[in-house]
Amino acid sequence: MRPSLYAMTTPELLRRLPKVQLHCHLEGTTPASTFVELARRSGVSTDYQETGFRDVAPADVYRFANMGEFLFKFAALSRSLRDTADYVRILEEYAQDAIAHNVMYAELFLSPSVWSFFHRDLDIRATIARLYDRAEAIEGHSGLRMRFICDLTRNFGSVRAMETAQLAAGLQEHGVIGIGLGGDEANFPAQLFVDAFAYARDAGLRCVAHAGEAAGAQSVRDALNHLHAERIGHGVRAIEDAQLVAELAARKVPLEVCPTSNLRTGVVARDGEQPLRKLYEAGVVVCVDSDDPAIFGTDITQEYLFAENQLGLEAALQIARSAIDASFASDGLKAGLYRRFDAACAELLAERRT
Ligand SMILES: [Zn+2]
Repeated sequence: MRPSLYAMTTPELLRRLPKVQLHCHLEGTTPASTFVELARRSGVSTDYQETGFRDVAPADVYRFANMGEFLFKFAALSRSLRDTADYVRILEEYAQDAIAHNVMYAELFLSPSVWSFFHRDLDIRATIARLYDRAEAIEGHSGLRMRFICDLTRNFGSVRAMETAQLAAGLQEHGVIGIGLGGDEANFPAQLFVDAFAYARDAGLRCVAHAGEAAGAQSVRDALNHLHAERIGHGVRAIEDAQLVAELAARKVPLEVCPTSNLRTGVVARDGEQPLRKLYEAGVVVCVDSDDPAIFGTDITQEYLFAENQLGLEAALQIARSAIDASFASDGLKAGLYRRFDAACAELLAERRT
């Protein structure tokens, strides 16, 4: 053990804690400087003018004041990510950041139907295959393991969702392990995607769904009952229904809670009761994650700090352990992740006491 001359701060302890990421969208990790550079190259406007590129400093490029502006930023980002090399670049930049935060395993969302909506000619299969090649190379030298979950994106409807599920099924040899369901939760309910989820499940893919973010508790019920989602993205609005909270706790359905995202999009009020605390205390399995970290100005360590602030260090460590358990890693891989986590935990806590 290294002797230290100062007590380790909690942010430092949580940064060094080995972590698992289960709710992070690759596109939303694009650093501000990369976004500005790619937007400038493609002549994409990054402010609220649709009339060609206007110069916006990286510090301001992700500023948004309401949902409409957020969606504009997301569309501008999607327009700027134009070809395979751009996606490989943001994967490499994500990995560098994840390694700095001691992420050891990540299940990253990719949104191929959004990619092809903005860039019809982009070869999705080739792009994901290239991403997986890079992911394997990065794992080889860093130990960070990355796998992909293809988001079906509610807004494109059920036919496109099935096409994306079929695409995902054919990409399992290229690191795709599951499907997800982000997008407009209020207007495109789970029932539209029953067939796509059944297809994916039969093909051997794991199934997760965003729910209980823009819509209420019923949407979480629908994701469980109609889609058989194994984890719920966000899920925080389950707290509107005590019976559902009890059911989630009893069935041990993990919720991927993204506290900063929820505050930035207004799903949760800053001065209101924080659902993370209420859900954890009700015995629901919760994980924390950063969602679109570059857009929301956060990182995985910040989300653990939020959990520590709300619930204390012991709970934050328990949440980190829950993420290993809730992951789709094989039993053998999970055993390795637990070993790394427990060893580092013991070392960090001992070092903090010296
Ligand atoms: Zn998300």
